[in-house]
Amino acid sequence: MANAIGIDIGGTKIAGGVVDDDGRILAAGRTPTKASDPDAIINDVVAMVRSLDDGSISSVGVAAPGFFDATRSTVYYSPNIAWRNEPLQARLAARLPDKVVTIENDANAAGWAEFRFGAGREERSMVMVTIGTGVGGAIVLDDRLLTGGFGSGAELGHMRLIPDGLPCGCGARGCVEQYCSGNALLRLANEAADAGGDGAALARARVAAGGLLNGHHVSALLESGDPGALRCLNELADLLGQALASMSAILDPNIFVIGGGVAQAGDLLLDPVREAFLTHLPARGFHPEPSFSIAQLVNDAGVIGAGDLARSALVLG
Ligand SMILES: [Zn+2]
Repeated sequence: MANAIGIDIGGTKIAGGVVDDDGRILAAGRTPTKASDPDAIINDVVAMVRSLDDGSISSVGVAAPGFFDATRSTVYYSPNIAWRNEPLQARLAARLPDKVVTIENDANAAGWAEFRFGAGREERSMVMVTIGTGVGGAIVLDDRLLTGGFGSGAELGHMRLIPDGLPCGCGARGCVEQYCSGNALLRLANEAADAGGDGAALARARVAAGGLLNGHHVSALLESGDPGALRCLNELADLLGQALASMSAILDPNIFVIGGGVAQAGDLLLDPVREAFLTHLPARGFHPEPSFSIAQLVNDAGVIGAGDLARSALVLG
């Protein structure tokens, strides 16, 4: 099989690589994203493709943040890049006439990489939840990436978890993202620090940090076994496990993969997630248990997934 080029356009940087059919990156490039200038982004992506191409590559996959149309040609909207109804696929294809160009949402591309080459590689159906500042996701069912009828599927962070719960940036209330994200963990940690008791170490860390806790402070306390930090993580994990139980009722994946910064807590996160999942799983005891895993691909998943999806598109086409 031929190599492909994968490009991952992030809010701050554009990363690219030549990806082989085992998901390895053979050559890589990187440049800052001129997020306010769509024309400059096109120019920078084209320049990166030309610099990575040794003349043998015919497919280019581009991962980008935002809401895509169902045909994967237009980015309707992106929160951190000045794209509004941006015809990204057509603009890149016009500048790269010798390539087949495909575009995909970045969370989906990263999830696809995890499915093909990471924790999901032995399975046919996978739900991946990425817990960073917010909560993202990707769904693969029967070896196919689910993109949805309108192209905006798999927004797992905006599934409603708590009726009339906390307001969310998406305009709704009670979304998973408000309870299971890195920001949610910081909210819980600050509440624990305010309350005293088992939050005493969190309170001390907050004072030492000049009044502002961040993810590093919380993970350091988690690693040291601090009961307050662990209670916050357990609270997040309990709600996440409940959300995954609901997803299981609909999607029935063989494996749940959890990625993103909070997933670095490893089994400290997975064990209570699994416990809450089993407690809330419909038809508990009569349903095979899916496996739970931390994501294995960390930094380059977007590049690898975009490249692999581009190659798949070429094969199917
Ligand atoms: Zn939301």
